[in-house]
Amino acid sequence: MTPNTPDQALAELYAGNRRFVTGVPHHPNQDAGHRTAVADGQHPFAVIVGCSDSRLAAEIIFDRGLGDLFVVRTAGHTVGPEVLGSVEYAVTVLGTPLVVVLGHDSCGAIQAARDSVSTGTSPAGHLGALVDAVAPSLLRAARDGIVDADGILDVHIAQTVEHMLARSSVLADRVAAGDCAVVGMSYRLAKGEVRTVAQVPDHPLPAPAAPADAAPAALAG
Ligand SMILES: [Zn+2]
Repeated sequence: MTPNTPDQALAELYAGNRRFVTGVPHHPNQDAGHRTAVADGQHPFAVIVGCSDSRLAAEIIFDRGLGDLFVVRTAGHTVGPEVLGSVEYAVTVLGTPLVVVLGHDSCGAIQAARDSVSTGTSPAGHLGALVDAVAPSLLRAARDGIVDADGILDVHIAQTVEHMLARSSVLADRVAAGDCAVVGMSYRLAKGEVRTVAQVPDHPLPAPAAPADAAPAALAG
């Protein structure tokens, strides 16, 4: 069954991530039959706005397949007009009920921005724009006295969630109507595990630590 509410979608992602972490992935929806079945239309249950990092492949870390996830990736999950347009397409045209901002530890984009801020220099070419997009998160972290890499990452993920909602009234309206939720997740490269660091709205979504086999019971409600 395809999840069609924000909390069902989030539970499904956590269940898939747990399968991946524990080394028992099901690789759902990756067979030839499913490939044919989804050729005529897609109904992805989650949008993933993730970092481009090669170790952060959404379908792998959430143990999903074709037609499940609508994925937009930029280095440092920076969010410009094309990203917002892609997200709005998924939530309005495809009816996707969940948007996830997916960041991770040891993020090169965040490190590049930290280097740029600390040295007062800007990288050449379009990399400068990427650093400029991450810099406000660094300033916010500094204002809040957060100096450790994990803390800065959490701030950047939360800031990306807020930034998307502030800049996309289309997305904000879907969230206000209860049709969609936006969740910020942090991924650990070595453990393969995600955890929620921000979510809007903050009430109906299930506890992140729920084991995979508890998900169906939660869905029954
Ligand atoms: Zn990254």
